[in-house]
Amino acid sequence: MAILEKKSSQHSIELEDKYGAHNYHPLPVVLNKGEGVYVWDVEGKKYYDFLSAYSAVNQGHCHPKIVGAMTSQAQTLTLTSRAFYNDKLGEYEKFASEYFGFDKLLPMNTGAEAVETALKICRKWAYEEKGIFENEAQIIVCENNFHGRTTTIISFSNDPVARKNFGPYTAGFIKIEYDNLNALEVALENNANVAGFLVEPIQGEAGVYVPSDDYLEKAKALCKKHNVLFIADEVQTGIARTGRLLATCGDCSCSDKNCSGTPNVKPDVLILGKALSGGAYPVSAVLADDHIMKVIKPGNHGSTFGGNPVAAAVAIAALEVVRDEKLAENAFVLGELFRSELNKYIEGSKIVNLVRGKGLLNAIVINDDEESETAWNICVALKENGLLAKPTHGNIIRFAPPLVMNKEQLLECVAIITKTLKEFE
Ligand SMILES: *Cc1c(COP(=O)(O)O)cnc(C)c1O
Repeated sequence: MAILEKKSSQHSIELEDKYGAHNYHPLPVVLNKGEGVYVWDVEGKKYYDFLSAYSAVNQGHCHPKIVGAMTSQAQTLTLTSRAFYNDKLGEYEKFASEYFGFDKLLPMNTGAEAVETALKICRKWAYEEKGIFENEAQIIVCENNFHGRTTTIISFSNDPVARKNFGPYTAGFIKIEYDNLNALEVALENNANVAGFLVEPIQGEAGVYVPSDDYLEKAKALCKKHNVLFIADEVQTGIARTGRLLATCGDCSCSDKNCSGTPNVKPDVLILGKALSGGAYPVSAVLADDHIMKVIKPGNHGSTFGGNPVAAAVAIAALEVVRDEKLAENAFVLGELFRSELNKYIEGSKIVNLVRGKGLLNAIVINDDEESETAWNICVALKENGLLAKPTHGNIIRFAPPLVMNKEQLLECVAIITKTLKEFE
């Protein structure tokens, strides 16, 4: 008779510690089940997930519609490579292009790959359409950006932990202050060879920095004036997270009927990842209109797994869930409630300075210096109290639950958070 081996958190942590590279510093919790807004650890304790795998699980854990699409496609056809056509990719490209209001989509797998793809499209466009001399193109990026982990991407990061000793770095990037239109204007005017401006509509990893209301719109206008591509990295902010289908979207012809108000920007190049699959599968994409995407010709760029039939089926289902369950609307309403409830607490708090964010992408700033352990210790205490969140940079804790949460659950989470913060006052 088989002896049931009881798994323990400690055992799993020890295995990762001994056999895995130490490229992360996880919170000490070992999960083995997820459903909707909840996850469970191996001892059976239930938690609210307030990270959603960095906003990949917007549609909630193990959404039956997404899992259903994935398993049924996995039983039929998983991978053909792009050497041949498959019957799912075109269907997905049409669906997603219309959904977000672009002519074309280029499928990849991870967010970093999609960012790389956008940079390559931008450079090639600069040489072939804008007329910049070969190898002279510059792309403007922002300080404190996070766009992924490839050698080129970390070349224009200013996070020493992500960057140091990975050189030599890729050239061709100009770094300016985020949310500073004047800096953008100066950079555009002083450099004739600018091909693009790569920007996060809200800087997520940096600590959920929301720019001024008119920043994206005016930045796009400056780019247009200088014939420079406005490239929005919506890998984290996109797909309903910030209370709208996209954090940039306004009057684009996308399917989000709630779109009104600011910003009101259609990027020239849109980068998506994370929640494009609802966290079920690595799926990313770059979207652009024909006059830009046409620079990519057979053999120029590719990926063995990019555009595979499982990814295509999963992404269609994941986007249908966002639309059918009105997740953008829900994120908008719950986000307002979350910040107003937390602000009531913060008024009388010594340990929290402020809450900021849009929709359900929020962060609190802990009143302690960046090197202190307070934010980490608060996250450990939150875990004990049944809610999982993680510090982003130093003294900042990001709060990003799945968007399938309801009001009662959100208020229960606010109660857990305020109760935990009280332990630190
Ligand atoms: C997570 C993230 C990426 C990188 O995505 P990966 O799938 O981890 O490669 C890129 N840009 C932004 C804004 C992100 O949040």
